[in-house]
Amino acid sequence: MKIAIAGAGAMGSKFGWHLKKAGNDVILIDTWDRNIAAVRENGVVARVKNEEIAEKMPIYSPSEIDEQKENVDLLIVFTKSMQLENMLNSLKPIISKDTYVLCLLNGLGHEDVLAKFVTRDHIIMGVTMWASMMTAPGHITFANENGNVEIQCLDPKGKDETKEIVKILSDAELNACYSENVMYSIWRKACVNGVVNALCALLGANCKEFGHTKEADELTRNIVQEFADVAQYEGVNLDRSEVIQHVESLFDTPHYPSMYQDLVQNNRPTEIDYIDGAVWRKGLKHSVPTPYCAFITRLIHAKEDILKVK
Ligand code: NAD
Repeated sequence: MKIAIAGAGAMGSKFGWHLKKAGNDVILIDTWDRNIAAVRENGVVARVKNEEIAEKMPIYSPSEIDEQKENVDLLIVFTKSMQLENMLNSLKPIISKDTYVLCLLNGLGHEDVLAKFVTRDHIIMGVTMWASMMTAPGHITFANENGNVEIQCLDPKGKDETKEIVKILSDAELNACYSENVMYSIWRKACVNGVVNALCALLGANCKEFGHTKEADELTRNIVQEFADVAQYEGVNLDRSEVIQHVESLFDTPHYPSMYQDLVQNNRPTEIDYIDGAVWRKGLKHSVPTPYCAFITRLIHAKEDILKVK
């Protein structure tokens, strides 16, 4: 199976590294010139238990993808949410009617973007609890040792092929399973991101500092409530108290979530429009009030402006 990974940042490089190490035919596609140059020179270098292990694989910029390149059987997208559509547009030469596209991005609504490029029976949605960080171009470090991947094809017609992809991921030590309700897991994870990622980025706090404030419980309840109210209209019935408990289980972790890292540490744009912002937009569509999500989205954008990230 020929596999392409679009977006060779922290997660795309991690998945590429594992899949290549397990013997798969993998190419990377990325937009960051310094990263492309570093991977061309040394491969993807992963720090594993104080050891640096390099995996060499081809890497291209989107402008180098043309009709000359072979179609791929599986395209795993790992861009940031706002880069997804442009990336897919530039990959049209290697996407055929037989290409499966697997999306493991955080956030909501990516299936609508994917549907512009492949049919529903070739769209595989998923969530992953693996975490990774880029320490320099071409260099990653794994942020946890016990992650997993949960995936499901949007149309049952693609179930058997998706189960084959589960096996390929698991054989590459990515601990995958087939989900019967992946949209639930996607919304559940979006709740975590919608509360801790957004609020830690706004407050300049880690999960533990935020979680130990007097306001944390009330804020969490209200935000999860809005996600759940909107999710219902999208066919997903979130178990509110379980999701709140799940979010609050992070309140003892002194971890700075990725939106904090993007905005505060690296002055990069955030994925807020695909998390709280997506709930706000979908709420407007379904006439569901989402004042917390709207306010948080506007505050994050204001902070992006102040920090001149755009
Ligand atoms: P990332 O920012 O590391 O990489 C995304 C893209 O941005 C890549 O093309 C990368 O080359 C580019 N990039 C990274 N740093 C850059 C820089 N300094 N200058 C220019 N370009 C740069 O993103 P990620 O963490 O791999 O996340 C991809 C998706 O996966 C997102 O939707 C994210 O929310 C989700 N996700 C991330 C993690 C994680 O632990 N990192 C875990 C689960 C899901």
